[in-house]
Amino acid sequence: MPIATVNPATGETLRTFEEMDREQIERRLTAARAAFRQHRTTGFGERARMLLHAAELLEADNADIAEIITTEMGKPIGAARAEAAKCVKAMRWYAHNAADLLADEHPAPDDVADSGAEHARVVYRPLGVVLAVMPWNFPLWQVVRFAAPALMAGNVGLLKHASNVPQTALYLEELFRRAGYPKGCFQTLLVGSDAVESLLRDERVDAATLTGSEPAGRAVASVAGDEVKKTVLELGGSDPYVVMPSADVARAAATAVTARTQNTGQSCIAAKRFIVHSDVYDDFTRRFVEGMTALRVGDPKDEDTEVGPLASERGRSDLEELVDDALGLGATALCGGRRPDGLDRGWYYAPTVLTGITDRMRIHREEAFGPVASLYRADSLDEALELANDTSFGLSSNLWTRNEEDSRRFVRDINAGGVYVNGMTASHPALPFGGVKRSGYGRELAGHGIREFCNTTTVWFG
Ligand code: NDP
Repeated sequence: MPIATVNPATGETLRTFEEMDREQIERRLTAARAAFRQHRTTGFGERARMLLHAAELLEADNADIAEIITTEMGKPIGAARAEAAKCVKAMRWYAHNAADLLADEHPAPDDVADSGAEHARVVYRPLGVVLAVMPWNFPLWQVVRFAAPALMAGNVGLLKHASNVPQTALYLEELFRRAGYPKGCFQTLLVGSDAVESLLRDERVDAATLTGSEPAGRAVASVAGDEVKKTVLELGGSDPYVVMPSADVARAAATAVTARTQNTGQSCIAAKRFIVHSDVYDDFTRRFVEGMTALRVGDPKDEDTEVGPLASERGRSDLEELVDDALGLGATALCGGRRPDGLDRGWYYAPTVLTGITDRMRIHREEAFGPVASLYRADSLDEALELANDTSFGLSSNLWTRNEEDSRRFVRDINAGGVYVNGMTASHPALPFGGVKRSGYGRELAGHGIREFCNTTTVWFG
């Protein structure tokens, strides 16, 4: 895949970039190692000062960076601005909270009485140089979600961003430089995915984090496993969205439209499989299909647009293949199921609702990365839970109910890293984020996220 900015709304290649050669990569690896030796010795006050400065600069750059994001990957401009604002919030949250999150811990005095460990403590020290392999769907947020805690913990970052968002990747390096981080603390490597293995095997790289597809995650995890290096993986999802009879159906259906089509449906935590109880199935379906059909699809730079183009031509053809496979095997499209009329340039796809899904269809098992919803009917919570868990993914999940017992059972029995009751999945800096099964492992955000790339060290004074 060439490293280039290609406008998804037109298909036009706007800028191409040379891949960095061995010597340029070598210089960056050396700079990262040197930066770590120094950055690890700084205090939380100094790290917070730099991160707050980065937040301030990003806040001022909001409109400009949003424009770049929309040009590179096609998300509606309002959503791009919201993404940049969310990054500012996360940077500030970690700047203010990292010292507490990584404060020394002391064992309970009673637990260590007369053991010789009365003065022992646990300290969180940084791990080193962390390689971040990142995707294009939230090209700023996915990086900041890693970088803010990593830098506050005293680590340094090497970013290998997706090949279709090079300008966003270069912006990020520049942002941290302008914020006062010493040379080497945060660097972008303009390289393709084939460069990742040798980077990971390099002794100057200590750990890696990857957000992206399952094959990419598997590739990185197996090399890291071979090298015995720590990884955090944030992979795909096919989140269930269960609607029970006691739910506020109007709100559940309206939220379902946003939950499925946010970021033009290209989100790991988008709800993808809608499992609706028979008692409210018809009502929910009518409202949901109406909402999906009413969405304004078009130029992502138009303020009124709700659904833009998919980020790449490949992304659209993958989605088309999934839908065509389902339709060919007997599924029905209640809306969409094709490219929208009048948008011939660019990689658009109409918001789609499919019913009649069976386990022979690929969409039953695979992640639909675009505005395509799979609708299922269930006659009980047990049946809904069985369908919800019938997936190799386990990122997040949604339940709509006003019945406390339904809610208690769902939280107990759903196999996912998140459960959102009467709302859609969202991330917040103060709450951990991540999945189980093929959705990956490890957690980002909150205290859990910042400790992933720390050396949890027992210090015992005799
Ligand atoms: P990828 O997983 O291929 O890309 C994500 C990142 O991983 C990019 O930086 C990519 O680099 C890199 N990468 C890809 N393959 C390897 C590899 N073998 N070794 C090391 N790094 C690798 O996502 P795609 O853009 O191809 O999207 C495909 C599917 O992945 C989507 O349809 C969706 O299902 C899922 N996905 C999930 C995301 C999430 O948020 N969980 C985000 C993006 C995609 P390069 O760009 O140079 O190939």
